[in-house]
Amino acid sequence: MNGTDFFYFQEHGALFIIIYILLFLTFLAFIFGLLLMKRLNEERLINEQQKTDLIKFKLAVQNVYDIIMISDGAGRILFVNKMFEVTTFFRVGEIVGHNLSEALVEHLPADFLENMLRTVLRENMMFDGETSAKRKNGEEYFLKINISPIFDEYGKTVFCVAIMRDVSKEKEIEQAKSDFVSIVSHQLRTPLTVIKGYVSMLKESGFGALSDQQRVILSKVYDSNEHLINLVQDLLNMSRIEAGRIKYDFEEGQLEDVANNIVEEMTNVAKEKGLYLKYEKPTSPLPKVRVDKEKIRQVIINFIDNAIKYTPQGGLTVSLSTVADHVRFEVSDTGLGIKEDEMNNLFNKYSRGSDDSSKTKTIKGTGLGLYVAKMMVEAHKGVIGASSDGENKGSIFYFEIPVIKK
Ligand code: ADP
Repeated sequence: MNGTDFFYFQEHGALFIIIYILLFLTFLAFIFGLLLMKRLNEERLINEQQKTDLIKFKLAVQNVYDIIMISDGAGRILFVNKMFEVTTFFRVGEIVGHNLSEALVEHLPADFLENMLRTVLRENMMFDGETSAKRKNGEEYFLKINISPIFDEYGKTVFCVAIMRDVSKEKEIEQAKSDFVSIVSHQLRTPLTVIKGYVSMLKESGFGALSDQQRVILSKVYDSNEHLINLVQDLLNMSRIEAGRIKYDFEEGQLEDVANNIVEEMTNVAKEKGLYLKYEKPTSPLPKVRVDKEKIRQVIINFIDNAIKYTPQGGLTVSLSTVADHVRFEVSDTGLGIKEDEMNNLFNKYSRGSDDSSKTKTIKGTGLGLYVAKMMVEAHKGVIGASSDGENKGSIFYFEIPVIKK
C-alpha cells in the first residue's frame, strides 16, 4: 500500500466496512432465504404426503371387513366405520359423539358391557371377548370384540380402538363340528367297550387256552382298542367342554382317595413296560378339596399314562403334597422330556410337540389329553403346569387345586 492509498482508505474506511457488512448481510439473507424455501417446500411435501396417507388410511378403515370404532380416553365415540351399520343396522350418526356405555346398551348384554368398559376405561387394560349381541331389528348374532387402550407419554389413555367382528357363521360351523364329533364319539363308544370286554376275556383264557402267539396278538388288539377308547373319550370331553355341556359333580373329598386306586392300577402298566412307578404318599391325610372325582381321575390317568408313554427307560414318581393353600398332585418321569419351544403349546388343543420331535413321530396320541386336563383343572379353580430340563431330560407335570377354607 502506497501513501496515497493509505490516506484514501483512512478517509473512506468506514464506508468500505459498511459496504462489506451490507454485502455480507445480503449474502446471509440470500442463504437464509434459500434454506427457508427448501424447508417450506419440504413441509409442503410432507403435508401433501400426510393428506394422501390419511385419505388412504380412512379408505382402508372404512372398507375393512371388521367394525372399527375409536373413542377418546373417557369413552366418547369419535369414529366408527361403515361396517358398523352393515353389522348392527344402527346408523353411524346415532352413536358417534355418544358414550360407549349409552351407544352400546341396546346392543350388548349388560354384564358383558360393564365388564368390557371396566377393563378398558377404568383398569386401562386390553379387552378380548366374545358375546351374543343384538342387531337393531332384534336379531341375535355373535360378536367378537377386541379393544386396546392407547396411552400418551404419561401413561394416560387417550384413545380406545375397538375391532369387532360378526362371528355368527364361524360359530355355526363350530357348533356343527362339535355336534358331529359328539354324535360320532357316542356311537363309537359302545362297540369299543364291547370289544374291550371280549378281548379281555379272551386274553384271560376265558374261551379256552391260548398259544403264546395268540396272546401277543390279542395284547396288540387290546392296546389298539384302548387307544381308540381314549381317543373317543378325549373327543367327547372336548366337544362337551366346548359346547359348555360338561357337568361337574363337586363334592368335598381328599385327592389321595382318587389317586391311590389309579396309582395301584397303573403300577402294573408301568411294570409291563419295564419302568418303575414310585408313589410318594402323604404321611398324614391331606386337607379337603372341592373335587369332581371322576374328572380328576381322568386328569391323573392322563398324566401317568403320558409319563409311561413318553418314558423309554427308568420310571416315574407320583407324589401328593400340600403347597400353601393348595393340594398338589405331581408326576415326574425320567423320559423324553420337553423341548423349550414345545412348552408354550403343551396344553393347547391337538398340540403334540414340535413336528420334528421323534417322540410324536413314533408314539401315538391325539394332543387332546392335556387340553382336556387343563379345562378340568381350571373348572376346579386350580392351576396346571409342566417343566422339563429339555429333550431326554425327563418332565414334571402337576396340578394344584385349592383347599376348602374353614
Ligand atoms: P397325546 O399324548 O395324546 O399326544 P397330550 O395332550 O396328553 O396328548 O400331550 C400333548 C403332548 O405333550 C404330547 O404329544 C407330548 O409331546 C407332550 N407330553 C405329554 N406328556 C409328556 C411327558 N410325560 N413327557 C414328554 N412329553 C410329554
